[in-house]
Amino acid sequence: MASHTLTADIVLRGGLVIDGDGGPARAADVALAGDAIVAVGPGLTAPGAREIDVSGLVVAPGFIDVHTHDDLICITQPDMVAKISQGVTTVITGNCGISAPLLRFSETVDEPFNLLGAREDFAYDTFAAYRRAIEAAAPRVNVAALVGHSTLRVLCLDDIERPASPAEREKMDALLRDALAEGALGLSSGVFYAPAWAADVEELQALAKTVAEAGGVYTAHIRDEREGIIEALKEAFAVAEPSQAPLILSHHKCAGVRNWGRAAETLGLIDQTRQRQPVHLDCYPYTAGSTIIRPDLADGEVEILVNWSEPHPEMAGRTLASIAEAWGLTQAQAAERLMPGGASYFQMAEDDMRAILSHPCCMVGSDGLPHDKRPHPRLWGAFPRVLGHYARDQKLLSLEAAVRKMTSLAADTFGLKDRGRVAPGLKADLTVFDPDTIIDESTYENPTRPASGVALVFVNGALAWRDGAPEGERTGRFLRR
Ligand SMILES: [Zn+2]
Repeated sequence: MASHTLTADIVLRGGLVIDGDGGPARAADVALAGDAIVAVGPGLTAPGAREIDVSGLVVAPGFIDVHTHDDLICITQPDMVAKISQGVTTVITGNCGISAPLLRFSETVDEPFNLLGAREDFAYDTFAAYRRAIEAAAPRVNVAALVGHSTLRVLCLDDIERPASPAEREKMDALLRDALAEGALGLSSGVFYAPAWAADVEELQALAKTVAEAGGVYTAHIRDEREGIIEALKEAFAVAEPSQAPLILSHHKCAGVRNWGRAAETLGLIDQTRQRQPVHLDCYPYTAGSTIIRPDLADGEVEILVNWSEPHPEMAGRTLASIAEAWGLTQAQAAERLMPGGASYFQMAEDDMRAILSHPCCMVGSDGLPHDKRPHPRLWGAFPRVLGHYARDQKLLSLEAAVRKMTSLAADTFGLKDRGRVAPGLKADLTVFDPDTIIDESTYENPTRPASGVALVFVNGALAWRDGAPEGERTGRFLRR
């Protein structure tokens, strides 16, 4: 077969293409020109192009981290090594109701917004100013942003201990519309967290409607992931159903010892609900979650590892149980004394997590906390862990199915139309990895060790990572809806 001659800048030669759609890997070359993929197929000919031998390696679409708290770190530390080292080429910020733009703090940063950054990092008075700051910083990965419902509440309500009044709803709606016009992907909510506890379904339905009309999405950190999980899921469904806003259940899990073994029940309910409204979910491949230290989560049953504590930094890396014992306190009392701080909660059952991760509608989101001094290892390892540990070693799912979750499924669900596949005409976000060696290296003891096996990462057609180090200019963009 005579292959016709191409105009291209780079040809990735001799790799195994996993295109992101879930179909079987196939031997093919991939040609890039400018910021786009121009051809995929065997024996491509492109005179003058830079040839890169990728034989023995997989060429996949760049991974999309659908659940991040990278709102500010993408500007303050734009190399984004925790993400690009895993093959992530796009991060979605503003999750769990917590988004940074428009927020200012005069003294300390209120919880849970302190998960995002330090006081001086909150410096954007409009969504447009935030977008421009990302464009000016040019992070090493692309950034797309959600608007946080808790952020809107803090900005628009006189008293966050009650539902929004009609006038306050209108104010929130105006800010949301402004951000959507500037390219925000949609709305996130986190009624699990104090700034949004008092919100009612009507308040959220109105915002979800605005998002649906604009073609955006709605992501939800539900009210209760423990014993009250079914009611909490139904609340999220009720918010999105009238407007048919595409709902994404964030970091789905059955948390708490008494709740273990219920993934079949929650996934069954999700499947049933999908018959009347669009629902997707994301998860991270670990049995521990991580958030701020909260006494109400210290139930004495799940193990809790303290990651940081402002009043007691010396306790980082110790379990709450051992701290409580040393202090002669209950775990809840010790948690109170350690606040503000962050912790990892070993609150999920492995079998539940595996069932959720394998669900065909489940994407991968790291939920990494980039501002933690001693972060949960998911920040540096979530994606290679799915590929190396769960797909290759444990055979929980095929490598192709795992890549689909991280790429086309994420791009389609969040409306990133020109990303998520290895196909001509799409943007050249590509991750080249060794299927035999890819693995996470970050652990609870050593949480910031970069993953192994990610050979090359391209962002918008430019080489951005090569054999363990950032390479070349940073070429990430702000991605509009
Ligand atoms: Zn969350």
